[in-house]
Amino acid sequence: MIVAKNVHKSFGQLQVLRGIDLQVKEQEVVVIIGPSGSGKSTFLRCLNLLEEPTSGEITIDGMCLTDKTSDINQIRQNVGMVFQRFNLFPHKTALENITLAPIKVKGLTENEANAIARDLLAKVGLQDKEPSYPDQLSGGQQQRVAIARALAMKPKVMLFDEPTSALDPEMVGEVLAVMKDLARDGMTMVVVTHEMGFAREVGDRVLFIDEGRVIEEGTPEQIFGNPQNERTRSFLNKIL
Ligand code: ADP
Ligand code: MG
Repeated sequence: MIVAKNVHKSFGQLQVLRGIDLQVKEQEVVVIIGPSGSGKSTFLRCLNLLEEPTSGEITIDGMCLTDKTSDINQIRQNVGMVFQRFNLFPHKTALENITLAPIKVKGLTENEANAIARDLLAKVGLQDKEPSYPDQLSGGQQQRVAIARALAMKPKVMLFDEPTSALDPEMVGEVLAVMKDLARDGMTMVVVTHEMGFAREVGDRVLFIDEGRVIEEGTPEQIFGNPQNERTRSFLNKIL
């Protein structure tokens, strides 16, 4: 579903990604861990074309992102992204946040989009929050709306960039539970998170990234239970 080959990204003189390779199969859940500033967000943003790699190749479901002739809008529709901050439109209700892109980008009618949005709100456990504005929702509820909003475009892949790290601790579980459901339903996911419980339970594979490179890769059991690289060990000692 995702093939990234030798992805480099620099901002001016700053080399942030120094040759990242990643392959993700359909329905696979890959968890990315690594220190702050190691390039995790930049890599996810390259997968969503929010950043253009300096070099390398990225293909999602057979469509080459790094090919100038590709239809960027089509590719973006295939890739849903959820950020650390919920980024909901503040002047729109939960329902309107979800229906906006399906109506504007996909050309659905309001009725069609509403039906999809209601299903998704139910799926994330917020059927009663349709008319609520973001500031009337808790952080965990806002993040669940953000997940529903991304799903409304029927993406083939979902990217999560530290989706629970801005939440109060008591709200982390409800967001992880929604992500777990999504994985169980067979969504292909790349998740940057330091939630080790989630990584162990849901992750098929864990990548440790440092200084723009994949330092170590393996099953959650291998990476958390028996890390081979000194940098992986030292990182895990700091966060566990
Ligand atoms: P992580 O998500 O692992 O914490 P990031 O990908 O956000 O790391 O950032 C990696 C490095 O790239 C950091 O040094 C950051 O300051 C830098 N960086 C990220 N985005 C930009 C940008 N748009 N312009 C310049 N530097 C950036
Ligand atoms: Mg980041």
